[in-house]
Amino acid sequence: MTESAAPEPSVPLVSGEPREIAAGVYVIPDGGVPLVPNVGLVDGARSTLVVDTGMGPRSGAAVLAHAQRLAAGKPLLLTTTHFHPEHNYGAQVFAPVATIVYNRTQLDELHSKGLAYAELFRGFGATVAGELEGLELVEPDVVYDGEADLDLGGRPVHLRSFGRTHTQGDQWVYLPAERVLFAGDLLENRGFPIFPFFPPDDVDVDGGRWIAALEELERLEPELVVPGHGEVADAGLITTVREFLVELRAETGRLAAEGLAIDAIAERLEQEQRERHPDWVQPEWIGLGARSFHAAAR
Ligand SMILES: [Zn+2]
Repeated sequence: MTESAAPEPSVPLVSGEPREIAAGVYVIPDGGVPLVPNVGLVDGARSTLVVDTGMGPRSGAAVLAHAQRLAAGKPLLLTTTHFHPEHNYGAQVFAPVATIVYNRTQLDELHSKGLAYAELFRGFGATVAGELEGLELVEPDVVYDGEADLDLGGRPVHLRSFGRTHTQGDQWVYLPAERVLFAGDLLENRGFPIFPFFPPDDVDVDGGRWIAALEELERLEPELVVPGHGEVADAGLITTVREFLVELRAETGRLAAEGLAIDAIAERLEQEQRERHPDWVQPEWIGLGARSFHAAAR
C-alpha cells in the first residue's frame, strides 16, 4: 500500500535549465508554474545580460548562478521587464555583483507600489510568502529615460518602452541582430493577458495603449518571441494577443451599449472567451480586462 498525499501547490521557484534559442541567447523556461516567469540570458563577448529574476531571493540566486556560469567572469547586467514580483523581486542577489538597469517609470512604479505588491503576493499563501522571505527591493545602478541601447560585445540590445500598458513602466528587450524579443507580460502564450486592475489601489493598466504597443512590436517582425509566461513563440503570438485585446474591448463596449452592467459583461465575456480559448490559463483575467476597458471608456 502506498501513502497518498494532497498535491503540493507548485512552488514558484525558477528551476529550469537554460535553453539556447539563438546563438548566445538563452531562456530559463517557466515550466508552466504560476508566478514563475521566463528568464532571459544574453551572452556577449564583453558582458552578459539577465532579463528578469524570478520571485524572491531563492529564484534570484538560481538565475544568478546560471548567469555567472555563462558569463565566466565577464561583467553581468540585469534588467527587468517590469516591477511585478515574479519579474523583479529577485534583484537583490544581483545588486552586489551586477549592473542593474531600469527605465525611470519602472523605477518610480517600483518605489510607489513595490511594498504593496509584496504584501498582496504574501496574501496568496504560505508557499508564495516563503519565497518572499528576506525580500529587499533594491535600487538600480543605471536609470534611463526614453530608450537605451546596450552593446554586450558584438551583440546589440535595445531596451524600449511604450509607457503605460500592462503596468506603467513595461520594458521590452529586443536583440536586433538575432531578432529575438523578450516581451515580459505584454505577451503570454496560452494565457489570458494579465490585467492588474485592482481599484482603487491599482488602475494603471491601459488596454488601449497596450494594443498600440503590440502594433509596434508587430512592426519589429521578430523571429522569436519570449513571452512573460508560456512557451517561446514566433511573431504570430503578438497578433494573437492583440486580436484578443481588440475583441475584448469591442465586446465590452458592445454589451455596455446594450445596457448591460459591468458585472454581467465581465461574467458573459469570461464564459465566452473560456470557450473560445479552452487551452489558455488564468481565465480570471478576462473579467478584469473587461472591467478595465469599461472604466477607460467612461
Ligand atoms: Zn506582470
